[in-house]
Amino acid sequence: MSDAVPTASAIEPTSTTGEHVMTMIDTEAAAAPDAAPRAQYRLEGVTRTYTQKGRVVKALAGVDLTIDAGDFVTIQGPTGGGKSTLLQLLGALDRPTAGSVHLGEIDIATADNRELGRIRAHEIGFVFQGFNLIPTLTAHENVDMALEPLGLSKQERADRVAEALTHVGLAERADHRPGELSGGQQQRVAIARAIVKRPRVLLADEPTGNLDESMRDEILAVLQALNDEGLTLIVVTHDSAVARRARRRLRLDKGTVRDITR
Ligand code: ADP
Ligand code: MG
Repeated sequence: MSDAVPTASAIEPTSTTGEHVMTMIDTEAAAAPDAAPRAQYRLEGVTRTYTQKGRVVKALAGVDLTIDAGDFVTIQGPTGGGKSTLLQLLGALDRPTAGSVHLGEIDIATADNRELGRIRAHEIGFVFQGFNLIPTLTAHENVDMALEPLGLSKQERADRVAEALTHVGLAERADHRPGELSGGQQQRVAIARAIVKRPRVLLADEPTGNLDESMRDEILAVLQALNDEGLTLIVVTHDSAVARRARRRLRLDKGTVRDITR
């Protein structure tokens, strides 16, 4: 199995117009306009059952699904439908009870733990409803944490963190702690933490669930810009305003996926 990690695109200097032109993500993942879409994920016959006190819950009940590289997919559906379970499988945080979950050539169902750790550290960014920032650390320090497993030099870490914070419009807030930031700003720090490793995929579980409308729009704009650069976005949401921005909409109910893109 190859140890190669996605090569990040070069960070270009600020353009003459002063406009910010850097890109955080692997542009190889962004297919040329005419090229056939490349599968990012391929799921076949995926089930995930939980057993609790002798009771068996089928959180996913046979999911077949392909997600293209560079797509923007939302997953809607009722509470208990299996959305978080699916996202955890896509994020290599869990394995299916049966079936296969291919991320590129690697099957998350059968890969060893070391490989799953490598995937989480390098290839996947995760954003949660509750931001999950560490309150005693600054924005810079929170973002820097994601680089710990990557073995970069101190200078490269500092540069990457600064780039990521700039990317979400928070360069000026690097020294602020979460308590000194609005909810929208905190979520943007969390997005910076997710993209600083230059992942192939960004997974988000209700990223706007704790935010009012204007902050939601602020987060949507950041997510949209990342997708425009080629990052694959998979977003669980109850918010139809978020789903309207997606290229592809899925609905997950009773552990079964349906495509509801119109
Ligand atoms: P959603 O995110 O759509 O609300 P989940 O994936 O969290 O749905 O849950 C799907 C089903 O699996 C629910 O019935 C839930 O109670 C059950 N479930 C989820 N996680 C666990 C767990 N760790 N242990 C037992 N049951 C679980
Ligand atoms: Mg959930």
